[in-house]
Amino acid sequence: MEPKVMRAMLLEKQREPLKLAAVPIPEPSEGQVLLRVSTCGVCRTDLHILDGDLAEPKLPLILGHQVVGTVAGLEAGVSRFSLGQRIGVPWLGYTDSTCRYCLRGQENLCDNLKCTGYTLDGGFAEYAVADERFCFPLPPVYTDIEVAPLLCAGLIGYRTYRMAGEHVERLGIYGFGAAGHIIAQLANFEGKRVFAFTRPGDVETQSFARHLGAYWAGGSDESPPELPDAALVLAPVGALMVTALKAVAKGGVVVSGGIHMTDIPSFPYHLLWEERTIRSVANLTRQDGEEFLKIAPQVPVRTAVTSYRLEDANLALEDLRSGKLDGAAVLTI
Ligand SMILES: [Zn+2]
Ligand SMILES: [Zn+2]
Repeated sequence: MEPKVMRAMLLEKQREPLKLAAVPIPEPSEGQVLLRVSTCGVCRTDLHILDGDLAEPKLPLILGHQVVGTVAGLEAGVSRFSLGQRIGVPWLGYTDSTCRYCLRGQENLCDNLKCTGYTLDGGFAEYAVADERFCFPLPPVYTDIEVAPLLCAGLIGYRTYRMAGEHVERLGIYGFGAAGHIIAQLANFEGKRVFAFTRPGDVETQSFARHLGAYWAGGSDESPPELPDAALVLAPVGALMVTALKAVAKGGVVVSGGIHMTDIPSFPYHLLWEERTIRSVANLTRQDGEEFLKIAPQVPVRTAVTSYRLEDANLALEDLRSGKLDGAAVLTI
């Protein structure tokens, strides 16, 4: 007999800890696969959903949008994957393919977007279902634990990095966590000089950044020896947008990679003068995913991971909140 119920960490109400529960194993509908989840990355966005910074999640909800597992069931219409194949499920869980954004190649802005672990159930559970069109085959060189953070920290980090533009020689990274440590390696590989900015005084993360090839690492209150051409803000702190704007060279762009941040303080126009830009990045496209998962093993991007058991998901979230982690948190299921 196949099991009918599974263990999952359930979000029943925002601002309350997740609860371990036994829930029915989801059944795939047309075009969907059923995954036996093996690992799932923990992302700052999970904290934003938990804390109520992001409104109106599906409730009760299974969080987690960096889902790694093997195909355990297929519904009619599934043609890309076979039983037993290892695949990954990212944040982008569904688009309608027909709205004006989808039609012009910006499916990340789809009017009817559904997101894994937010408006769809995610991977903090033994099983998950996903629309096969949005799943990715995963590079075989990575273990299930290593590959999980590539699915959001990697993919959305990659989109953020690409938004910095092609002509960037010196790249500032504010917030050197899961996404920062992945993107620094890619930027290095592409011949860019990385300037890593951490919380003031966080010498441990600064040495971690240098170890991963950063040209310079220091506190966000310090001035680097050269002005970055672009800066990625990967911490949810609005004031860093202004700090980064002050630091970038003429024509520089400051890109926020997160889905939520604290308010951005007002700033004098001269900081934006000389064609500086501030912008955000929302979600990802499938093309971002395909490009990044192709280039990551070539670098090769290595992920620093702290793993937790499924039932310790609350602990993983708290460690992420307090900044205790170098790299990424991953649940093993
Ligand atoms: Zn994420
Ligand atoms: Zn659409």
